[in-house]
Amino acid sequence: MNNQHDIIIVGAGPVGIYFGMLLAKKNHSVLIVERESKKNLGSKMDQFHLESMVFDKYRIPPPVEGTDEFITNFEWTSYYGPYGKHQQLMNYPVTAMRFQFFIQRLAKLAEAEGVEFQFSSSFSEVIIKDSMLTGVRVQNNGEIKEFYGKLIVDSTGTSAIVRHSLPDEIGVEKFKIEDDEKMYVIQRVIQWNNPEEPHPGTDKYEESISWLYYKTWVAPHFAPNANIFGGGQPGGYENAEKAVEIFLKDVPFPPYTILEEHRATTAYRRSPFSLVGNGFLCIGDSACMSKSFSGEAIESSWSASLIAVDVIQRLLKENLPITMKNMWDVNVIYFRDQGAKLAALLAQIPGAANTTKKDVTYLFKKNFIFSGRDFTSMWQNLEMDMSFGRMIKIVGLFLWGIISRQFSRKALSTMLKYMKISGAIRKHYENFPENIDEFNEWVIKAEELWNHVEKMKYTLEK
Ligand SMILES: Cc1cc2nc3c(=O)[nH]c(=O)nc-3n(C[C@H](O)[C@H](O)[C@H](O)COP(=O)(O)OP(=O)(O)OC[C@H]3O[C@@H](n4cnc5c(N)ncnc54)[C@H](O)[C@@H]3O)c2cc1C
Repeated sequence: MNNQHDIIIVGAGPVGIYFGMLLAKKNHSVLIVERESKKNLGSKMDQFHLESMVFDKYRIPPPVEGTDEFITNFEWTSYYGPYGKHQQLMNYPVTAMRFQFFIQRLAKLAEAEGVEFQFSSSFSEVIIKDSMLTGVRVQNNGEIKEFYGKLIVDSTGTSAIVRHSLPDEIGVEKFKIEDDEKMYVIQRVIQWNNPEEPHPGTDKYEESISWLYYKTWVAPHFAPNANIFGGGQPGGYENAEKAVEIFLKDVPFPPYTILEEHRATTAYRRSPFSLVGNGFLCIGDSACMSKSFSGEAIESSWSASLIAVDVIQRLLKENLPITMKNMWDVNVIYFRDQGAKLAALLAQIPGAANTTKKDVTYLFKKNFIFSGRDFTSMWQNLEMDMSFGRMIKIVGLFLWGIISRQFSRKALSTMLKYMKISGAIRKHYENFPENIDEFNEWVIKAEELWNHVEKMKYTLEK
């Protein structure tokens, strides 16, 4: 195999493969280095879902019904308040699939565009020349191999192994995702003991259900009469276990049998302030691009890939070096729009810290903040619909909640505090400097703003 390519991508997850495919389509030579064997590619999780619009938007053929990859399409998601009350409906089509089949198909599509893969090859170290990242060393069957490219991309997921290994001169933060910056998710595959009796996961509006207060959900599964029963909490798997217990006391399920249990974490952390360095780009989970309302990063990272590919394609065409400065537009375009929205959403999470079951019930009951309209807007636009008229209505509902003792002052003051911080963070990201020389000053202010955002906490009431 040739060891010189235009682009070397480390990590053949949904993001690395898609990114490579885009560049190969533009006739650049792309090599993706992947730790797993070809056969095991995509084995990290069983099933997942994507907004159905992604197939058109990112020009990926949708899964074919009747294949092993396809599970179901559903249009509605139900959201419930505490004790399973006050249903809110989100109308947003979603496709449920089996991850490994999807990834293997995506890899074939990429190969058809000319992407080369080097499987069973674990990243070992970076190769630097004149302050530029120029290649990677990988371990393949006990042998060290070197691959060189004009750009090295880290798409190794939350391990972000290439980013962590960078020397300072490359210009990208090396932080690791700490334990208290993760959501600990337990997904159980459950089979209903009496499937003919009513149970979650069946009705047209209830194929996918989220009990937001408990961070618990039910989603479709491919096995007969089975569903995914998931729950995530900050602070460790023991909190996720505790939350499920509390949930089942408040919202009892008909009898079921647990067929399988999977444990995994998702990152709840801000992105590095720069996605690009000298000869380097990080994208996907390695760059913390997940949507904090769902913990998902595939769609948002594909969207970031389109931005990055445009800039890189231009540089390659003009034969310009892929330096941090030359790639700066990736940061400007990403952080001024999607990056600003994701940062603002993430900064809002601690705002829920002081909300009790009673507070959350009020929000669900009165259709605001936790309403079908807000959920749809968040999924569609990564922000809530906060027109002036709606803001006035929301203020009125908060006041009424406090006067009628249905909503606590403590919850309101925490929510307002975080709305303010989140608004300031968004504004700051929307002003991401076009001029790289103003970056250090921008970072100082950004760090100051993030210092006001507390870490996620386990806050579930019994
Ligand atoms: C329980 C759970 C459920 C989820 N459900 C959904 C969902 O329904 N929809 C959704 O959009 N998202 C979902 N997510 C999030 C989603 O899995 C991630 O956002 C997404 O996989 C990120 O893609 P990625 O390509 O950046 O990283 P990954 O998918 O993590 O891929 C990284 C790749 O890099 C490889 N790699 C790692 N280290 C090395 C190394 N040293 N050398 C070489 N290769 C390496 C890995 O083997 C892997 O193939 C879920 C996450 C969890 C934990």
